[in-house]
Amino acid sequence: MNDQRPAHIDSYYAATANAHPVHPCLEGEQCAEVAVIGGGLAGLSAALNLAERGHSVILLEGARVGWGASGRSGGQILTGYACDMRKLEGYLGLADAQKLFALSREAMGIVRQRVLRHGMDCELQMGYVHAAIKPRHLQELEEYREHLERHYGYGGQELWDRERLREVVDSPRYRGGLWDPHSGHLHPLNYTLGLAEAAARAGVRIYENSRVLRLERGAAPVLHTAAGRVRCQTVVVCGNAYIDGLVPELWRRIMPVGTYIAATEPLGEARAASLIRNNAAVCDTNFVLDYFRLSADHRLLFGGRVSYSTFDPPRLKESLRRRMLAVYPQLADVRMDWCWGGFVDITMNRAPHFGRLDGNLYFAQGFSGHGMALTGLAGQLIAEAVHGDASRLDLFAKIPHRPFPGGRWLRTPALVLAMAWFRLRDLL
Ligand SMILES: Cc1cc2nc3c(=O)[nH]c(=O)nc-3n(C[C@H](O)[C@H](O)[C@H](O)COP(=O)(O)OP(=O)(O)OC[C@H]3O[C@@H](n4cnc5c(N)ncnc54)[C@H](O)[C@@H]3O)c2cc1C
Repeated sequence: MNDQRPAHIDSYYAATANAHPVHPCLEGEQCAEVAVIGGGLAGLSAALNLAERGHSVILLEGARVGWGASGRSGGQILTGYACDMRKLEGYLGLADAQKLFALSREAMGIVRQRVLRHGMDCELQMGYVHAAIKPRHLQELEEYREHLERHYGYGGQELWDRERLREVVDSPRYRGGLWDPHSGHLHPLNYTLGLAEAAARAGVRIYENSRVLRLERGAAPVLHTAAGRVRCQTVVVCGNAYIDGLVPELWRRIMPVGTYIAATEPLGEARAASLIRNNAAVCDTNFVLDYFRLSADHRLLFGGRVSYSTFDPPRLKESLRRRMLAVYPQLADVRMDWCWGGFVDITMNRAPHFGRLDGNLYFAQGFSGHGMALTGLAGQLIAEAVHGDASRLDLFAKIPHRPFPGGRWLRTPALVLAMAWFRLRDLL
């Protein structure tokens, strides 16, 4: 067993993780039909689905299972995509957009079924509020609610005015909000660890501390790590924003963006419940958004801030605290116990980027901050495609994805400029 293995980053999630095994580091040569790169939700979902279909699968994780975004996330599981459905209609037409929306609903079902079927202890809770900062946001939410109901049959959402919202979310900041009973939240690291346990039980050979340093593509791919290699027929790439340049044509189409979360001290049951009375997940309508929810032990987990460089912003805890107090001034006496961050992988158009290269290299990336539920779907669609039916994966392959202009270092300043514009719009 390798004692020098990397740990999960220091976070509330790592401190409350369920007991989980350490998987060995890959040493020497191994063979499998399918090799999966990345032990986050997307890679684990693909591996589990493939093993359940009878394929031999090896999963290589560079650090620990759940070390990446999946184990650091806000944990909000949301229907739909990071981009507006009207954008997908523009690309594909209404009929295909409707299929994509139905798939996003299927993604929610996959999470719920897996939690139930594998008895995962990950605090799944339904209910989500999209909170409006400005009157025009409330108007936009109502238009979108109506659009989803009319064209996608998505019922059950309710527009709440300021007073109704305040009965649930006790904050002076919001003009109202859109209630969605079909979305929700969970403990993301424990969900990821639960998925890894299910995958291992299904026969997936999981290796940790086994970063793929070089990938030989072609009819008989070989994946090289520091201490071993895997020969396979098919490769599944699910490295998210942590993949770096391993597959250059994928890397050019995503941009790593840092996002951050702080966890308060335990507030006690009554005080926590007074903040979000129905225990929903909450997210606001700004482009640089705040997102928050309660933990099972009555803390507020408050996310926000972004960074477009690969460096963490300075004085992060204080700045998240300031943002939290703008939402909940009544928490002025409350201590922050943890603060952490991670990268989301955004695409130019915020639509997910799933597909296939070379005939035998499948990938899922570009969840654009909306991957908690969609990763489960991505894994399932990739497994279907490897097993011979690519029809549902191919729907996603129709979405056009442009590369970010410039190389690794040039595209960052360009993005910072673009984001400064969106931040400005948040103020208007
Ligand atoms: C702070 C934060 C908050 C978020 N909040 C939400 C939210 O509330 N709702 C939501 O829907 N989404 C949210 N997201 C996004 C969501 O967490 C991700 O979309 C999702 O977890 C992506 O899963 P993944 O498996 O693609 O990637 P990851 O979980 O990042 O997994 C990728 C893994 O691949 C490994 N890897 C990379 N390269 C290699 C290599 N060469 N060899 C071996 N292994 C490799 C990495 O070590 C990593 O563990 C958030 C993300 C962050 C960071």
